[in-house]
Amino acid sequence: MTSDFETQLRSVSLRVTRPRLAVLAALRDHPHVDTDTVIALVRADQPTVSQQAVYDVLRALTDAGLVRRIQPAGATARYESRVGDNHHHIVCRSCGTIADVDCALGSAPCLTASDDHGFVVDEAEVVYWGTCPDCATTPRTSQ
Ligand SMILES: [Zn+2]
Ligand SMILES: [Zn+2]
Ligand SMILES: [Zn+2]
Repeated sequence: MTSDFETQLRSVSLRVTRPRLAVLAALRDHPHVDTDTVIALVRADQPTVSQQAVYDVLRALTDAGLVRRIQPAGATARYESRVGDNHHHIVCRSCGTIADVDCALGSAPCLTASDDHGFVVDEAEVVYWGTCPDCATTPRTSQ
């Protein structure tokens, strides 16, 4: 799998570095995690990587389009390495769990605006909100 990540990095003219490979591996195994979780996952493998280095890697990979940053309303930013397929997300209002939902059309924008105000629309961001199965079956503890 490492060679896949190397190919991805080279395809966007990014140098192959161990922290970049570690971040891509972490996001492949743990999609939709926040920055702190990415840091913890990378450090479990490479304890010497600094927090700032992980921030820098996330920014470089996001700018290069290898990583997608998603930020549902009221939630912390999450990252995933599944990019380019215009998939959507379903978010649990209770625990914040995020799951992927394949786009029925597959290419953006997958919804036609009823009035585009003359804009050239290149993306329609679709977020489904609801309650995940765990939260639906677990009685809510009062807080
Ligand atoms: Zn939930
Ligand atoms: Zn996703
Ligand atoms: Zn769609």
